[in-house]
Amino acid sequence: MNLRVHQFLPLSRANGPGVRAVLWLQGCSLACPGCFNPETHRVDHGDVVTVDELLKRVTALREVVEGITISGGEPLQQFAAVTELLRRIRRETSLSVILFSGYTWDEIMLKHDANGPQDSSTASRFRRVSRFASAGPEFLNYVDVLIAGRYQHHRRLAQGLRGSENKTVHLLTSRYTLDDLEQAPAAEVIVGAGGEVSLSGIDPVRWKV
Ligand code: SF4
Repeated sequence: MNLRVHQFLPLSRANGPGVRAVLWLQGCSLACPGCFNPETHRVDHGDVVTVDELLKRVTALREVVEGITISGGEPLQQFAAVTELLRRIRRETSLSVILFSGYTWDEIMLKHDANGPQDSSTASRFRRVSRFASAGPEFLNYVDVLIAGRYQHHRRLAQGLRGSENKTVHLLTSRYTLDDLEQAPAAEVIVGAGGEVSLSGIDPVRWKV
């Protein structure tokens, strides 16, 4: 099974508690005005990487990171493969998992089918699948913290892992508290091996040159 990947960052301090690997997946059709990561939208960009290969990269880091953060793009638009990756991370490592999604909690819980959540703008096409209706989709069993909801730039927050105020935080296990999430810095500067400089974090303010 393959995932389309925008970027994999082995070490980060601004994408959740502690030192974490970060996986940004490629492809998002939700079109939030003011999206801070528009280069992740196109589904024909990025690199196609197998779940096996991604798991290898993650497990190689297990002595130096406490978890992985998965963001996008929209991770749940690669629903089957992301579920497989999360399942294997949970079964084969003790790493924590934080997942960002632009879908709301209701869309994730109630308005999805086997391919993942459906955009509310296509409500007439929603198919409610009874096996998911009470407990939610399987992938939630493998996630410690889910940050859900569209980015709304006029409600920008960039705090406690929420890019905007409307986003909701779901502590799905006892691994982290809201305080833990608040401790994560909102942004970090990363200097690559070749001297290239980039910004990472929850909606970091852009450079002005
Ligand atoms: S869900 Fe995320 S990546 Fe997609 S448009 Fe909204 S902010 Fe951008």
